[in-house]
Amino acid sequence: YGDSNQKIDYVFKVVLIGDSAVGKSQILSRFARNEFSLDSKATIGVEFQTRTLVIDRKSVKAQIWDTAGQESNGEKLTTETQTLILVAPWPCGRPGGLVLVLNFSLSFMGGGKTMRCDGAAMRWRCDAVSRLEDESTKYRAVTSAYYRGAVGAMLVYDITKRPTFDHIPRWLEELRAHADKNIVIILIGNKTDLEDQRAVPTEDAKEFAQKEGLFFLETSALEATNVEEAFSTVLTEIFNIVN
Ligand code: GDP
Ligand code: MG
Repeated sequence: YGDSNQKIDYVFKVVLIGDSAVGKSQILSRFARNEFSLDSKATIGVEFQTRTLVIDRKSVKAQIWDTAGQESNGEKLTTETQTLILVAPWPCGRPGGLVLVLNFSLSFMGGGKTMRCDGAAMRWRCDAVSRLEDESTKYRAVTSAYYRGAVGAMLVYDITKRPTFDHIPRWLEELRAHADKNIVIILIGNKTDLEDQRAVPTEDAKEFAQKEGLFFLETSALEATNVEEAFSTVLTEIFNIVN
C-alpha cells in the first residue's frame, strides 16, 4: 500500500460519484488503506487518496477523488446540503461578527481563496462573500474542477436503496456532460453484505450497465468484497487504452 519512493510511470485520476451514503468514502478507504468504518463521517468538501500498484510491470499511481460536493437531488444535481455555519469576526473591519452559512464544498471551489480551515481557526478573505451569490456558477465551478483530468469514474449506488440506483442515469448524464468522453466508467452496487435488504436485483444493474457500455461489479466495502477488483478493472482498462 505504501507509496514509497518508487518510480511512477502513470498517474490516473479516478472520481467517485453517486448519491450520499452509498459508501463511496468507505470504498476508497478500503482500497487506499484497507480500512473500513461503520460510523464514517460525511465527506467534507473534496479529497483524494492515492495508492500505487503495478500493472504489466509499470507502476501506476491511482489518484482517487472523493467528494460530498455533488449529490443527486430531485430534478437537478445540486451541491450537497452539508451546511457549515461559521460565526467569526468580520475580517474587513466591520464591527460585530459575521455569520456565514455556506456549503463546505465552496471552500474547495475557491481554491484557498475563500477560506482556510485549520483546527478551530478559520479565516477567509472578503472576496469570498461575493462568490457565494450564484448557485449555478458555484456548482459548475466545483463540478468542472472535480472532473478535470479524470480518466476513470466509479458510479456507486447502494443495493439496499432503490433510489440510489434510479439516480444513476442522472449521474451518467452529469459525467458525460463534464468529463472526458473517453472516461472509463464502472457501475458499482455496494453493500452486498446486506443481501437480506437488497432492493436492486443484480440483473437490473447488469442490464443497465450493458446497455450503457459500463463495467459492472457489486462490492462490499465492509467485507472487502470486489473492491480491489473494481479498481483494478478501471485502472487496467485505462492502462490498456493509453498503451
Ligand atoms: P458516502 O456518502 O457515499 O461517502 O458513504 P460512506 O462511505 O460515508 O458510507 C455511508 C454509510 O454506509 C456509513 O455508515 C458506512 O459505514 C456504510 N457503508 C459503506 N459501505 C458499506 C458496506 O459495504 N456495507 C455496509 N453494511 N455498510 C457500508
Ligand atoms: Mg463520502
